[in-house]
Amino acid sequence: MNTIKSKLILAFGTTITVLLLVMVLKSQYSKKSETIQEVIDFRIEPALEILHEYRTFNNELFLIALNKISSTKSDKITNRMKVITEVELPHLNNRAFDLIATFPPDDPEFSSFSKIISTSDNAIINVKDMFIILQTNNDYAKIEKLNVSSTLLKDKIALQFSEIDHLVSALQINFNLESKTKKTELNRQLINLNKIIVISSTVAILISVLVAFKTIHSIVKPIKILQDGAKRISKGDYEHRVTLNGKDELNELGDNFNNMANSLSRSFENINSKNKELEQFVYIASHDLQEPLRTISSFSKILTEQYKGQLDDTGEHSLRFISEATSRMQFLVKDLMDYSRLGNDKSLETINCDELILGVQTDLSELIKDTNTDLIFNELPNINGYKTALRLLFQNLINNAMKFQKKGVKPIVEIFYEDDQNFWKFGVKDNGIGIAPEHQSKIFSIFKRLHTNKEYQGTGIGLAHCQKIIEMHKGRIWVESQKNQGSTFYFTLAKNPDIDSVLV
Ligand code: ADP
Repeated sequence: MNTIKSKLILAFGTTITVLLLVMVLKSQYSKKSETIQEVIDFRIEPALEILHEYRTFNNELFLIALNKISSTKSDKITNRMKVITEVELPHLNNRAFDLIATFPPDDPEFSSFSKIISTSDNAIINVKDMFIILQTNNDYAKIEKLNVSSTLLKDKIALQFSEIDHLVSALQINFNLESKTKKTELNRQLINLNKIIVISSTVAILISVLVAFKTIHSIVKPIKILQDGAKRISKGDYEHRVTLNGKDELNELGDNFNNMANSLSRSFENINSKNKELEQFVYIASHDLQEPLRTISSFSKILTEQYKGQLDDTGEHSLRFISEATSRMQFLVKDLMDYSRLGNDKSLETINCDELILGVQTDLSELIKDTNTDLIFNELPNINGYKTALRLLFQNLINNAMKFQKKGVKPIVEIFYEDDQNFWKFGVKDNGIGIAPEHQSKIFSIFKRLHTNKEYQGTGIGLAHCQKIIEMHKGRIWVESQKNQGSTFYFTLAKNPDIDSVLV
């Protein structure tokens, strides 16, 4: 079975086949029970009913014959005799005849019933004869009529009735016995049918559940493996590959998944090596640029000092421009060098954030003093991270918070944090010029600045630096601000920035 479609067809097919088998088995057993019930309904019950009526008529007719001898003039007796002999008994004989017509010819009951019918017919004739004798007026003396009738009653009618009675009794015993046997058999069939239904339904359910479980398992398991694989790769484990057995569509999907992962990791390797090359280039370029910059800077210094007063206004003005531009370029080159070097420090350590910021405060003490800044922070946590990088991060954000300030306003910079499950979440809040919402996402790109150097000095590298540092710590950085209403820079740092253990 190669495809999911075939697996599903197999699962449903097995279930339907099992159910059909159960139905066939049930109908077989039901058929047997129906046959037994038919024997009871159409043979035994009607036979017992007819026999019972024979017995009743037999007794009644014998009594009528006896009574007729003792009271010959009773019209009531004569009328009843007529109804029985001309209507009821012939009708019963017909019913009996119809019934035995359905019996198998070799059935012993068939001959017994035939015997009853013929004896009954004869008895009717004899009873009628007896009545005729008793009712004739002239031919015999009364006593003689009685004698002849008594003899008829004793020698023929009584014997016939007794024979009928005997046959009826014997047949009743037979049919009662047969009824009992059939009912027991029917009962047994019903119990068996019940058992069959319970057992076969249980087996059917078990088989269906088993097949369904196996089918679902064979579909869900590879999906789960693919899902785990995708999760691991998305967490950064680019070397992870999935192994699926079988030859269905999911297996094909697994192969494609692995191919995709291969291309992905090749692309990442490419990007990484290109990035490294680029960083190397930036490092070398900025490093090599420092030397000529230093030369320009020192010569313009010499010119400024040694030719002071000897140059005209344009000359002095130009020299000042050269000095300022050189020093800006020196900052830029230094920042670029720091940026390209970031990430080389790969040793994680436990950092006391209060101590870290105290260090930053010392480094920025001159600016803090000049701007009269209030730097507020209190009981920050110990965190796991890259120390040099984190120091630079706080330094950039605090520096910006003091720098982008409204004129004449005392800068207030506050650093706070909260514990956010797998992350530390920090905020650096200022009361400065704020950032309009439409610029907020752009400022983290390298060289992106919202102001001229005249307004606020800078290189446009600081926040790009911060972004890179946050990536090293598997976190994210964003700003919440409104123009002229201060800014809060938020960032998260993974508690364990180790590559595989953090959900970013
Ligand atoms: P730089 O500070 O050298 O200009 P950054 O990369 O640090 O470069 O910042 C980029 C830009 O984002 C800044 O030029 C400024 O316009 C804006 N910015 C950064 N921090 C703040 C702040 N705290 N308040 C207002 N604007 C800010």
